[in-house]
Amino acid sequence: MKTLQNLTGGVWGDSLGDALLDVVNPATEEVVARLPGGCRADVDRAVETAVKAQPAWAALPVAERVARVTAWADAVAGHADELAELECREMGKPVGVGRVFIDGAVAGLKASAAQALSYGFEENIGRPDGSCTKVLRHPLGATAVITPWNFPVAMVLGALGPLLAAGNTVVVKPSERSPLSAVRLFELLGLPPGVVNLVLGDARAGAPLAEHPDIRLVHFTGSVGAGRKVGAGTGGLLRRAVLELGGKDPVVVDAGVDPVETAAAVAFGAFINTGQICTSMERVYVHQDIAEEFVEALVEAAGTYTAGDGHDEGVMMGPLSDARQRDTVRRHVAEAVARGATVRAGGVEPDGKGFFYPATVLTGVDESMSVMTEETFGPLAPVVVVPSFEEGLERASRSRFGLAATVYTRDPAHVAAAARMPVGVVWINQWQGGGPERLYEPAGDSGMGATGSTAAYDAATRPASVHIAAGTAS
Ligand code: NAD
Repeated sequence: MKTLQNLTGGVWGDSLGDALLDVVNPATEEVVARLPGGCRADVDRAVETAVKAQPAWAALPVAERVARVTAWADAVAGHADELAELECREMGKPVGVGRVFIDGAVAGLKASAAQALSYGFEENIGRPDGSCTKVLRHPLGATAVITPWNFPVAMVLGALGPLLAAGNTVVVKPSERSPLSAVRLFELLGLPPGVVNLVLGDARAGAPLAEHPDIRLVHFTGSVGAGRKVGAGTGGLLRRAVLELGGKDPVVVDAGVDPVETAAAVAFGAFINTGQICTSMERVYVHQDIAEEFVEALVEAAGTYTAGDGHDEGVMMGPLSDARQRDTVRRHVAEAVARGATVRAGGVEPDGKGFFYPATVLTGVDESMSVMTEETFGPLAPVVVVPSFEEGLERASRSRFGLAATVYTRDPAHVAAAARMPVGVVWINQWQGGGPERLYEPAGDSGMGATGSTAAYDAATRPASVHIAAGTAS
């Protein structure tokens, strides 16, 4: 069985630790590869390499760095089918679905790297007394990117563009549950040795990386629990962290919308990627005037999300990524049912191998149940019927999380009210969407650090000013 290797200074090599982990195909439960468990020595070696490589990388002209990152994006695009297949094998995503997100991530990598060409790395501000203030944005140095498994390729590519184009070097620690696609991504890398390094493993690699004193920024995407630990570590070191964490996103469905069309959109938001998206719709509030028709249509739509091995044609929904994820879904459904909820669709697991769970609709839930308070990260749509739009909005806004929210309404006053929800992004009459200008910071426990527009460049650089007196020769 193949054991995956780390990439340090452009050379692939074995971990310095002894621990090994299995990569399990969640559709078959077969072990498909092994990876190192991770250790501090691997991290130290990678960080030292990234620190050494950084000055030469930062000394290249911006356009050269952008061109090198763009060439890597093109190489990734040329292997998109293969990467989608690897994602399917390691975490279950249907190949066709994976392909769409990889294409999007490649376009995103190119666009975010190209932003460097117009970003203000140097601004000269003349003053009335003839002096000049020069504002420079320096790269930070060696940085870390730690990613989850739900979009293995997209999460890595999404973080790297601005960090690299701004002149930083990076140590990447992908999820221990999705290392196959990460290894392939970095086999395709054409950057100078040491600019991007890969350390495999679980928290045994992630924690020492996040707490390494020579790492100037940790870009972490993952659960609230691990994010809190990362934030505590970087806080103690007085280092920067961008934390993109979990959610429990609501969707509010107003009276006056088409119940069938909206139910299809909600099914997509709740079930695509087997509900394993940080912004999956995990709480549904529907106006009583259309509730009956909406729930019927949602139940029907749930039936079209056929679960199966994502390698097979026509499969809409793969398995959950592992047994732990399935246990969470089981626990949430069982608790809700024991306390009076009704399973309207799904809820019954298929026999046989694989961590499958069907698209499930629950009604009769109340807001004290875990299904409404904890992130489920599974194909579950719990529905609450509300007497008014205002009450739906108020309940939707009552959460410790604050990633995103979606509202379906035809009423302009309700659009205006929804815009004030305490979340990073409010989507109106569509789920997802919005270009690179979509600037936001998650609210509550869903993270910290802004995303979108030029925020990634602001995070990837440190501003410094030089004030030059009038009459100074320059
Ligand atoms: P996780 O927190 O278990 O792991 C994420 C990464 O952190 C992995 O690489 C893991 O090895 C590493 N890690 C774990 N403990 C660590 C520690 N103490 N120090 C440093 N690194 C550590 O999350 P997961 O199960 O892989 O991913 C699912 C979670 O990610 C969900 O909560 C989901 O909402 C969230 N997510 C958020 C976004 C976003 O943009 N907000 C996007 C995707 C996923």
